[in-house]
Amino acid sequence: MSGQDFKDFIVVITGASTGLGRAIAVETADRGARAVIINYARSHEEAEETARQVTAKGALAVLVQGDVAIDADCRRIAGAAAPFGRIDALFNNAGTTKFAPNHGDLDAVNAEDFQNLYAVNVVGAFQMVRAARTLLEAAPSAGAVVNTSSIAGVTGIGSSVPYAASKGALTTMTLSLARALAPKIRVNAICPGFIDTPWFGKGLPEERVAKMREGSAASTPLKAASTAEDIAGAAVFLASPASRHVTGETLLVDAGSHLGMATLSMR
Ligand code: NAD
Repeated sequence: MSGQDFKDFIVVITGASTGLGRAIAVETADRGARAVIINYARSHEEAEETARQVTAKGALAVLVQGDVAIDADCRRIAGAAAPFGRIDALFNNAGTTKFAPNHGDLDAVNAEDFQNLYAVNVVGAFQMVRAARTLLEAAPSAGAVVNTSSIAGVTGIGSSVPYAASKGALTTMTLSLARALAPKIRVNAICPGFIDTPWFGKGLPEERVAKMREGSAASTPLKAASTAEDIAGAAVFLASPASRHVTGETLLVDAGSHLGMATLSMR
């Protein structure tokens, strides 16, 4: 709990029915947001659960189904904030992947996989910013965009080559948009490492996920397998007044896993 630094904020979060998106929704509500617009792609039931948790914190929850790969949907998602006259914070959190963890198997992915992942992870975020631009510019202090990128985009690890490449592109786009949209809009990104969310269940058997969880807890410098709640605070920081002079920044939030040369340490 960080006081009421989101007091009266109008917040839009894509991919907010589960995982990190839900945790961001609850955190912004907890910090005083007036309305949280919860985008979800498929599961209305899970989005309802996010809405229930947001409402319990005293914020208004607005559910909007939509696929961020479709521009018209992005306009509808951003448009849900129009009755409030502004967007203080847009979290581009929706993301997708194809699991092909053996990056050396070049036949495991194809051009269509690249296009599908880019359509959501890169173009989706771009379309959301474009759709939300006028409302972000109407925020009393600079409207904040926070992109959920990934350590995959920094180090090239992750569920597949197209996934890592798409997150690298999202991180670069964060820089372009931060420069182009200043001074009225700030654009930043977080790069999480492992987060224990439904994400991996879509592509990996539970034993593999359990191994990743144990591996993170054993091998990250902070000896932690991050939960969505562990990461949400960093995302919310980049939309908060505390980061009002931060734009074009990429914040690694990975329990230190990018320091991965620890075994070569001379201590
Ligand atoms: P998650 O599966 O719980 O959340 C992803 C959400 O995105 C889902 O609710 C899904 O329905 C939604 N989504 C997918 N495609 C969409 C589309 N076209 N339009 C709208 N919504 C769509 O997993 P998560 O871990 O909470 O993932 C959230 C973000 O964090 C993603 O961008 C992911 O790439 C990123 N990330 C996750 C991890 C991890 O270890 N879980 C690590 C680094 C980055």
